[in-house]
Amino acid sequence: MSRSLNTKHSEIFEYWKDKAILSDGTIIPDNFDDNTSVPVVYDYGEPSCWACGERYIEEVLKNKDYDEMALHNPKALYDTPQAKKNYNRCHIIPRQAGGSDEPSNLFLLCRKCHEESPDTLNQKNFFKWVYKKRKYEYSPFGIDFKRFFNEYLKDCKEKGKDPLTFNIQNAKLNAFTHGSIVSESTLMMTLSDSCEDIRR
Ligand SMILES: [Zn+2]
Repeated sequence: MSRSLNTKHSEIFEYWKDKAILSDGTIIPDNFDDNTSVPVVYDYGEPSCWACGERYIEEVLKNKDYDEMALHNPKALYDTPQAKKNYNRCHIIPRQAGGSDEPSNLFLLCRKCHEESPDTLNQKNFFKWVYKKRKYEYSPFGIDFKRFFNEYLKDCKEKGKDPLTFNIQNAKLNAFTHGSIVSESTLMMTLSDSCEDIRR
């Protein structure tokens, strides 16, 4: 039987929240303006898989103290039953290979990514894999397209924009990026901003 893992999700978040990953698997302090790295934690208030970006935000939002936590104590979000259920504490260097239970050797992943993640003795291999997932597979559209689309239509209506006239090029130029990743809400709003006004 394997020994129990006592490291809290919030401790892992605390350790990783201001770090970023380079393409060769090196860990650096997160630098807001840097395009070459991907931040480990994309949005403190919205727990997500640190590889594919999968968010179970609806579930976390069910917590009655969500607003309070997101605003004043985001770290507590990671110890909610909803976050604990959806994010596995994944060992970077496997236990069987002597990997520790320190937050520095643990990473929060969804179940699917946990299964997919490499078992390796070289920490850089693990982070190279994370970097690739984040850079090339992370898709805000992959999360909840229906919700995204509904929000988009609502936002267009409020702004008096024609939702069919969006201009991807403009939306991209206007998007505020954190590392290389654009948040779902940013994308949604820059997309609606790029639309033409509805003519009366
Ligand atoms: Zn994942």
